[in-house]
This record gives sequence, C-alpha cells and structure tokens, in this order.
Amino acid sequence: MRLRNVAGSREAIAQSRFVVQNPKERKNKWRELFGNSNPLQIEIGMGKGRFIMDMARLHPEINYIGIEKFSSVLIRGIQKMEKEELPNLYFIRMDAEELTDVFGEGEVNKIYLNFSDPWPKDRHAKRRLPSREFLNRYRTILTKEGNLEFKTDNQDLFAFALEELEPAGWQLDKITHDLHHDTKMMEENVMTEYEERFSSMGNPICKYIISAIRSGTEKNS
Ligand code: SAM
Repeated sequence: MRLRNVAGSREAIAQSRFVVQNPKERKNKWRELFGNSNPLQIEIGMGKGRFIMDMARLHPEINYIGIEKFSSVLIRGIQKMEKEELPNLYFIRMDAEELTDVFGEGEVNKIYLNFSDPWPKDRHAKRRLPSREFLNRYRTILTKEGNLEFKTDNQDLFAFALEELEPAGWQLDKITHDLHHDTKMMEENVMTEYEERFSSMGNPICKYIISAIRSGTEKNS
C-alpha cells in the first residue's frame, strides 16, 4: 500500500476510544473489553477498514478487532467509526509480529488476511503474513476449532501461501483460484477495498480457508 503521511494521525489514534491503546494488557481478557462472551475474530492488515466494518455491521453477535501497522492508514478507519460507531469493533495499531504478546492461547476464533503485502524479495519471505512464521503465531492464538481465511489477487503470494501449509502443519479446508466465479465460496463474501479495485480490473481473486492440524490430545484438551 502506498503511504501518504497523514498529519496528526498518530496523535488522533493515541486519543481515539475506538483504538485499544495498551493491547498487551488485554491479553487473555479480550472478552471483558466487549462485555460479552461472543466469539472473537480479527483482521490483520485491515487497511482503511471497509471489510472489518462491514463484517461488524453484519454480525453483531461476533466481536471484531482490526489490526493495522500504519497510523496514516488506520486513521481512515477511525474517521469512519466516528461517523458510525460499531459496538462490536475495536482497532489496534501494531505490527502483527507481536500477535502472541497481545492475544492469549486459543483466544481468537478466526483470522482474516485480505490482500496482504506480497514482500516479493526472497529475503523478506518471513514478513509475508501467510508465511510459516506467521502461521505458527496464528496457531497459538486460535481456538482448537479456529480457522483462517486469506484472499489475494497476487498469484505468486498465493502459491507461496499454499506451499507453506504442509511445513507449518496446516490443512486446506476450502480453496478457489477465482472466487468471484465460485458461487459457493462467494456466498456471504464481503469485499475489501483492494478486492473491489483488483477484481474490477479483471484480476481473479484467490482464496483459501485453512486450519491448523492438531494432535488428538491437543484437540480434546
Ligand atoms: N486488507 C485491506 C484490503 O484488502 O483492502 C488492505 C490491504 S493492504 C495491501 C495491506 C495492509 O496490511 C496495509 O495497510 C499494511 O499496512 C498492512 N500490514 C502489512 N503488514 C502488516 C503487519 N505485519 N502488521 C499489521 N498490518 C500490516
């Protein structure tokens, strides 16, 4: 994502009631923030927040957290929340590398990755959000029944993401290489900003749904 510095965004984020300011202090206590025991779903790399806001509006019975690394992008989501407050949604400004400091074991029910940055150079592979390094973090914070949904139009990133599954001990539950022509997987699809842009250019959208393979004892514990 090309970033334009938005003056005052850091300060506005530090004061926003829609942003969790000290997320590490919330570890293992996220339900208290929402005041209910609804499932918790997170989007990593939420950008300007269209997807996560639409999800929160559609599913008031689910709690959502949108995670974004850059203030100048997150500020757009905050501005939208100021116009339309959604009680089941909060934002965090953080790098997803810190996920396991912020969420406890099995605290998250579902993770969404939408149009994650491709990091095309090999030496940056560990920074790709569907990499095995990130899959290990996701495994820790997801519930035993939890899963992860990933969408992208980047064919190379999708091929990489598929190759990472086996070494990381994850399984493919559903897959399409052309989401917008897959009637079944399009049911309940919620578009992201990037998805709208790239699909309108004619790019096919790839999507998978995956879950971590757990040992028998892990599953039952
Ligand atoms: N998900 C949105 C969509 O589909 O429209 C935005 C996609 S944009 C290409 C990727 C976003 O992920 C950027 O806003 C970027 O700052 C954020 N991002 C990338 N790596 C991240 C990380 N390690 N932690 C948090 N956010 C990250």
